[in-house]
Amino acid sequence: MSQTSKQIRKRLLVNGIVQGVGFRPYVYNLARSLNLTGTVSNTANGVNIEIQGSQAQLEAFGRRFEADAPPLSIITSISEEIIELGSETEFTIVHSSGDSAVSTLISPDVALCPDCQSELFDPDNRRYRYPFINCTNCGPRYTIIDNIPYDRPFTSMKHFPLCPACKSEYENPGDRRFHAQPNACPECGPLVWLCDSQNRPLPARDPIREAIRLLEQSNILAIKGLGGFHLAVDAKNQAAVARLRKAKGRDEKPFALMVRDLSTADKYVILNTAVRETLTSIQAPILLAQARPDNDLANNIAPGSDRLGIMLPYTPLHHLLLNEALDVLVMTSANFSEEPICIENEEALSRLSGMADYFLFHNRDIYLRSDDSVVTEMAGSIRPLRRSRGYAPRPVFLKQKGPSVLAVGGELKNTVAISKDEKVFLSQHIGDLENLEAYEFFQLTISHLKRIFEIEPELIVHDLHPEYLSTKWAREQSMPTLPVQHHYSHMASCMAENDLNEPVIGIILDGTGYGTDGTIWGGEILIGDLNGFQRKAYFDPMPLPGGEAAIKAPWRTGLSYLHHRYGRNLPDIPALAGRELSPIIEMIETNINSPLTSSCGRLFDAVASLSGGRQEIRYEAQAAIEFMQVAGNDLGQDFTHFNLIQMNDQHIISVSHIIEELVKRIKKQSSLPVLSQWFHHSLVKSFVDLTLLLREETKINKIVLSGGVFQNRLLFEGLEAALKKEKLEIYSHTQVPTNDGGLALGQVVVGQNYLRK
Ligand code: ZN
Ligand code: ZN
Ligand code: FE
Repeated sequence: MSQTSKQIRKRLLVNGIVQGVGFRPYVYNLARSLNLTGTVSNTANGVNIEIQGSQAQLEAFGRRFEADAPPLSIITSISEEIIELGSETEFTIVHSSGDSAVSTLISPDVALCPDCQSELFDPDNRRYRYPFINCTNCGPRYTIIDNIPYDRPFTSMKHFPLCPACKSEYENPGDRRFHAQPNACPECGPLVWLCDSQNRPLPARDPIREAIRLLEQSNILAIKGLGGFHLAVDAKNQAAVARLRKAKGRDEKPFALMVRDLSTADKYVILNTAVRETLTSIQAPILLAQARPDNDLANNIAPGSDRLGIMLPYTPLHHLLLNEALDVLVMTSANFSEEPICIENEEALSRLSGMADYFLFHNRDIYLRSDDSVVTEMAGSIRPLRRSRGYAPRPVFLKQKGPSVLAVGGELKNTVAISKDEKVFLSQHIGDLENLEAYEFFQLTISHLKRIFEIEPELIVHDLHPEYLSTKWAREQSMPTLPVQHHYSHMASCMAENDLNEPVIGIILDGTGYGTDGTIWGGEILIGDLNGFQRKAYFDPMPLPGGEAAIKAPWRTGLSYLHHRYGRNLPDIPALAGRELSPIIEMIETNINSPLTSSCGRLFDAVASLSGGRQEIRYEAQAAIEFMQVAGNDLGQDFTHFNLIQMNDQHIISVSHIIEELVKRIKKQSSLPVLSQWFHHSLVKSFVDLTLLLREETKINKIVLSGGVFQNRLLFEGLEAALKKEKLEIYSHTQVPTNDGGLALGQVVVGQNYLRK
């Protein structure tokens, strides 16, 4: 045998997202095309590849292996060794051996791929108009998995035995559907049907066409999708949208839209390259984008907002619904107000019967609910506001391996996270835990994540707030726990996704979080690293008369901040005219239910309401959002450097000074847009001042921006640009939300660091 044809056998162990993404057929086809012999199999420790051939053949394999890997796969590590020669005559796929521990990753759910889409609309294809068409490159994953390894018997497809045609695709390594676990066709797979709200089936030859007809006739449809039910109406029908608002108990919060395709999206929102790529990505999130004026949509879809949340169809069912008479639908999660999204048919009938006129059901079970994700573009990057379907449970990768930690997040917009080695698995959006169903879903998600990733955490990390249900749950477990301050978690979350563990200056502008002194924090500059932090600057704490009640009625907060500066000698503020002020003043003066807060969100409420903006809100942060929008994405010329009060080692930003300057401008009858520009501009200038002062003090040049207030585009973009001008290194969120949906990531890294010591 000559030197060149000398046989070598190598074993490659590949880790990452390599199950359920067409990885084995990919390896099979690559190996066969290079005339290699050997095997590929899913094992406990990843995908095991054994290849045998000449040095040149193996090198050719190595050159192409990573570069040509399937689109859904992520390779995180490959270990390689030379092993003894085998005697096979060809390359084969060896079947999964079940019960041992699996450390491979599970793919998120994936939007319909172009190949399946063209088959869906091809009259000669056997899956023509079949609403569950999928392949190895697309379809449901995370939401139908009950256990591992990712194989059909452990998914909700176990109830659908493959017909001969589907089986031969499933078994043919050359086929696009080789080992596609949700593979199905009209012969053997799930079906859709229509019912009225009393669960009486509607006789329809084509339930989807009938559903379209019902939507055209102003009905509200509950439609079972990938991660849960949607409620849908025709987005051009104002009366139908109004009925939906009433049914959902949602007065003003904008509704998301699903549109037929990119060119339809283009009619409603302004698209650039990044935005187009995001809309058509395999994650297919809802994207918040600038609305085009004078569109033909009902005017009650996003009242008072210049943005629209828009997504493209991501399941074959959605494609079928939007391909005929209707090209844009309101698609909102099927729930009442802040309850979790419905996933089961019976549950939907009982919970939604007062809301939906008809139900478009199917019989593929959803094991784990997953809401639509929401992203937006700010400062040139796409940023998640809600990281859920399409993204979860794809991990955030850390710079170094760490011990396994469970982080239970906050109270609102809850997500949880669990870590293993260098990976942090963040859950899908869970919601507001004070809601009983959401709390149950929270517990279910924790046990599900532990099971499918086979993780037994050593520590549970929770928020410092003693009354959060996540905190209470953590303390009930018979395990070590670690409380972490809310805004420190925000800072650590941003550090984690940017691979930082050195000292940073964290500008954390937020709604509310429990502080180490028992007051409510939320407008903080923290300095620290993963070992701990110091509170270096904050807004002068103000009383919040009625606590929660003040959050719902920003005028109360406005009055409180005004009273703090002027006492009973209140200036004449048109926004407060006609209000019954004395009971609130009484509350503040006698210190009844008036907790102190340094929250930046509340400062926004106060300034927005005193300026003549929103006095009472219908959804979270409505006053601040509308106040930002009136500025027209412009900081204007006028600004004030807010006064600082030095106290011990801390800088306190004088809220009285802000209010005084605001009152001056209100008296000069500045308009709402001008006041908004002034306030945003002043915040930017003042935080630049403060940051430069702190850089001088500490010599730290790395600045971390986090907290829910940074969803405010004008403030975020303005501050980021101004800080960059000062040659500061700025870090912000692009992987997890800047709001409380990203807290759990920060809790994980603080917990890991604690265990290391
Ligand atoms: Zn496909
Ligand atoms: Zn079939
Ligand atoms: Fe927060």
